[in-house]
Amino acid sequence: TRGTAEYRALDAAHHLHPFSDMGTLNQIGSRVIVKANGVYLWDSDGNRIIDGMAGLWCVNVGYGRQELADAAYRQMRELSYYNTFFKTTHPPVIELSALLADLAPEPFNHFFYCNSGSEGNDTVLRIVHRYWATQGRPDKKYVISRRNAYHGSTIAGATLGGMDYMHEQMPAKVDHIVHIGQPYFYGEAPADMTPEAFGLARARELEAKILELGAENVAAFIGEPFQGAGGVIFPPSSYWPEIERICRKYDVLLVADEVIGGFGRTGEWFAHRYFGVSPDLMTLAKGLTSGYVPMGAVAIHDRIARALIDNGEFNHGLTYSGHPVAAAVAIANLKLLRDEGIVERVRHEAGPYFQRCLREAFDGHPIVGEVVGAGLVAGLQLAEDPRARKRFADGAEVGLLCRDFCFNGNLIMRATGDRMVLSPPLVVTHDEIDEIVAKAKTAIDATAKQLGL
Ligand code: PLP
Repeated sequence: TRGTAEYRALDAAHHLHPFSDMGTLNQIGSRVIVKANGVYLWDSDGNRIIDGMAGLWCVNVGYGRQELADAAYRQMRELSYYNTFFKTTHPPVIELSALLADLAPEPFNHFFYCNSGSEGNDTVLRIVHRYWATQGRPDKKYVISRRNAYHGSTIAGATLGGMDYMHEQMPAKVDHIVHIGQPYFYGEAPADMTPEAFGLARARELEAKILELGAENVAAFIGEPFQGAGGVIFPPSSYWPEIERICRKYDVLLVADEVIGGFGRTGEWFAHRYFGVSPDLMTLAKGLTSGYVPMGAVAIHDRIARALIDNGEFNHGLTYSGHPVAAAVAIANLKLLRDEGIVERVRHEAGPYFQRCLREAFDGHPIVGEVVGAGLVAGLQLAEDPRARKRFADGAEVGLLCRDFCFNGNLIMRATGDRMVLSPPLVVTHDEIDEIVAKAKTAIDATAKQLGL
């Protein structure tokens, strides 16, 4: 093995990181993560870091589970690869599909596989267009998404997403994708509006957009049940039921991007259940394999699956659709989540404890405007004057400052603009929650002190 300096030099010489300013990063040098177990990471200098983010919101069962390593090893020896294109299939993908049908809510009995959430959303677009074509309604082409949504980094995923800084660097966007406002109460509601009224108002932007485009031209609406990369934004409770009502009224498919919310994050198997809505398609990834190997999927409502099955060839697929090793790992992962009662523990024990600790630590804090979340996901709004809902003029800078304080204190907590977000592995213990909250408090206190607040 190499030392930290040598790793950094080679990294700078040969590796371009995603979403990174490489000039700056190469000067500072990345932290080199060499090992992980449970909720802890170790760097190449031997520091132990508590991972408040489960990697990128994905390591739901925690790091280093033998069962997943064994499943991969066994499958690689048995059938390391085969495709599912030309009249072939294999046991891991069959078993995984049956297991997912068991775990997902009732109308979801068919699954299409890919390697990531981004590809999942590309696949959603393909399925939506195919579905409406089979219904004799090829004009239904528009897909409506939201500003500050994140749906991935492929051209289609990034077009669906509502991140301007990503759109600016793209050669072109995918046609027929439009955006409406996000249900971000703290940041965008007028001072005199209640959360419920704001939720309704933002949902009704969907109706206005459908009417503007013509319902006969609108194929689908896509949304993360709660926005993850957008800052863990939990919509007011009025929002999702109104979105669903509007989708049904105008015959617009409802797509839940469950890439972060799926597989237990909120204490429900799927986050749309937490908000009480019933989508037609679900994008899955991350927690599907707890990040041990790449895999994504689209869960397809029976009605849509029927249309795809009964109408000839669907011209879409990936070399690794339903990869046997990924499928074997997914099965082992889902069985851990189910058989160890991990999701129930998030709902009844770990989640309520985490939410309570965060609120005790940060309610009334001089630079925290709100603490939101459910289960084991939370967002902390940084604010200059919390009670007046006055945000920092340079909020993204303040977030990065806070993130660096966390990092230096051996806690991974991510900044998304002026919101600090947490999403630890679902197996986090009460003691580990105490450690995360204490370290987050130290970092946010240090941020406030540096700003003189
Ligand atoms: N959708 C959501 C809601 C996500 O949060 C992400 C990634 O963070 C994606 C899609 C894209 O997934 P991937 O990075 O696996 O392509």
